[in-house]
Amino acid sequence: PETIETLGKLLRDGGLVAIPTETVYGLGANGLDSEAMSRIYEAKGRPSDNPLILHVPDMAAAKPLVKSLTPTAQRLMERFWPGPLTITLPKADCVPDRATGGLPRVALRCPDHDLCRAVLTAAGVPVAAPSANISGRPSPTTADAVYDDMKGRIDAILDAGTCDIGVESTVVECGDDEVTILRPGGITEQMLLEVVSKVNYDTALSSPTAVPKAPGMKYRHYAPSAQVYVVDQAETFAKLDLDVSCGVMATSDLLENLPVPEENKFNLGKNLTEADHNLFAGLRYFDDRPEIKSIYVESFDQGEESLAYMNRLNKAAGGHHV
Ligand code: AMP
Ligand code: MG
Repeated sequence: PETIETLGKLLRDGGLVAIPTETVYGLGANGLDSEAMSRIYEAKGRPSDNPLILHVPDMAAAKPLVKSLTPTAQRLMERFWPGPLTITLPKADCVPDRATGGLPRVALRCPDHDLCRAVLTAAGVPVAAPSANISGRPSPTTADAVYDDMKGRIDAILDAGTCDIGVESTVVECGDDEVTILRPGGITEQMLLEVVSKVNYDTALSSPTAVPKAPGMKYRHYAPSAQVYVVDQAETFAKLDLDVSCGVMATSDLLENLPVPEENKFNLGKNLTEADHNLFAGLRYFDDRPEIKSIYVESFDQGEESLAYMNRLNKAAGGHHV
């Protein structure tokens, strides 16, 4: 309890604290303090037009941050919070432009992580927190991964082990009985349709040239220094000319039969859920190995269930497929 109070005070007073969530580790700062948020951008090397998500311990804490908590927004929060759904709504005047990259909407989320919510409650302010990685690198799913990127740059890391989900939240723009998915995540179209009549997708998710409404989506992202390739068909793995400079990330069954040194294999697990959980750790595993020049990664074709995974993987690969 003392640690949580200490971290809460550190956040309230303008410090930078990395916090665990159920998706990935976040780099937190006081979401009402522009200077504190500027330090997030400095520590990450984050482009200044890429907005932050404000984290709150509950719906009541979200209310003063928006112009109006519409009935649709309330229904989404009641159904999906705490959980991996980020909701954008027209911002209240008290929210600094620094939190929204100058946009008229603020992004809000309540994480499904008890320790995280305890820190948010202790802070007593909304906590702006993008993923706690150097901008462009894979998101961190362990405290060690945060430390690798952020040592010397921030005040504290709360280590709560490995994040459950492993890919970031679904981001939706909240309309009147409809939402638009700006970034795919664990909360799918099917789930959203339990609460709203219509689900749209931001056109930028399917068109490489359209300008995304979620500014962060336009940047190269999640990428290690080696070239990542998306392997479209599982059969292709056996046909690749894999030498010692190649890393392979695939599910257990596929990996087993590949003629690749064990240390060049990264097991994504048994299924898509485990692959979500392990994707960023795998990209970071090979990033720590400068002799690895190419990384071949299994793709999943499970409709909207695999959208979040494929969105992160495609960005890491910068469109390279085999
Ligand atoms: P990160 O936490 O690093 O994944 O970054 C948060 C992401 O949320 C940003 O990169 C944006 O894509 C999205 N986001 C945050 N605020 C807004 C907003 N007001 N409108 C649209 N997208 C947003
Ligand atoms: Mg990020």
